[in-house]
Amino acid sequence: MDKLAIVVPCYNEEPMLKLSSEALRGVLDDLIKKQKISEDSFVLFVNDGSKDKTWDLIEEEHALYPSMIKGVKLAGNVGHQFALTAGLLTAKDMSDVTISIDADLQDDVSVIEEMIDKFHEGKDIVYGVRKKRKTDTFFKRTTAQAFYKFMKLMGAKTVYNHADFRLMSKRAVEQYSKYEESNLFIRGIVPLIGYETDSVYYDRKERVAGESKYPLKKMIALAFNGISSLSVKPITMITGLGMIIILLSICAAIYALVSYTNGNTVPGWTSLILSIWFIGGVQLLCIGLIGQYIGKIYLEVKHRPRYNIEKILSD
Ligand code: UDP
Ligand code: MG
Repeated sequence: MDKLAIVVPCYNEEPMLKLSSEALRGVLDDLIKKQKISEDSFVLFVNDGSKDKTWDLIEEEHALYPSMIKGVKLAGNVGHQFALTAGLLTAKDMSDVTISIDADLQDDVSVIEEMIDKFHEGKDIVYGVRKKRKTDTFFKRTTAQAFYKFMKLMGAKTVYNHADFRLMSKRAVEQYSKYEESNLFIRGIVPLIGYETDSVYYDRKERVAGESKYPLKKMIALAFNGISSLSVKPITMITGLGMIIILLSICAAIYALVSYTNGNTVPGWTSLILSIWFIGGVQLLCIGLIGQYIGKIYLEVKHRPRYNIEKILSD
């Protein structure tokens, strides 16, 4: 039977920890009873340099349920994406399949069973996708929606309305670990792994206790990091803009020349206005061109795996 590890990044989750632990233990117990996962499956809490008592609580839980609750303490706050990566990479050596979930129980733990079922059907990655965002505030909902749309526009492919609640098989996590980049946006990388995937759908709940660690400022930072770490489209857009401005300058040239021949211009205006437009366009085009090379360098230094073999038929 497969050993499941549920990975939970925690930053200042003191009010949530016991509640999460209880809920996740319940899920494990239930799945063990139904013989869907092995008895030594566990929850791995990753303490991301919390300033409150989160780690003490994790230790307490571990003392109470040594086989079911495990913990990793990071030596400082590294942020959600890295904390989750630390947890996944630690868990992969101790389990056959991982599920990542936030500590706040906003994601519905009852679909974990469905995820495991899909895993048993042979899926390597199962995304948890939010159906509606009824319980989120209007502000959070619209900003989050804008986030996905903007990402898509900028060429960063992600699964719509999917955050970091997902199942990954051991070999998917292993392949994920080969993406050694420091500009990390997990949601953008997982689809690149390429194994068979599926989704389960659920309604997102309200945060039970504690507060969101993703205020607008962090969301914008995450979006920017997502875009700049996945796509060089913004650079291409600059090149495009440069070309458009050069075209516009040609139009402006025609207009200026016509005005000039009609004699209703101040001396010097024509040459001045033409230079401004043309040079501006040429500059943008050149910046874009240099940017293209920087974009290539950027993608090269990431040293991403170039392929991932799913199966080999031999003998
Ligand atoms: N988190 C973390 N490190 C951080 C910020 C957040 O590990 O620096 C964790 C946090 O404890 C939670 C998850 O990341 O388990 C998602 O954060 P949150 O629920 O606050 O984000 P939201 O759901 O509001 O987008
Ligand atoms: Mg949350």
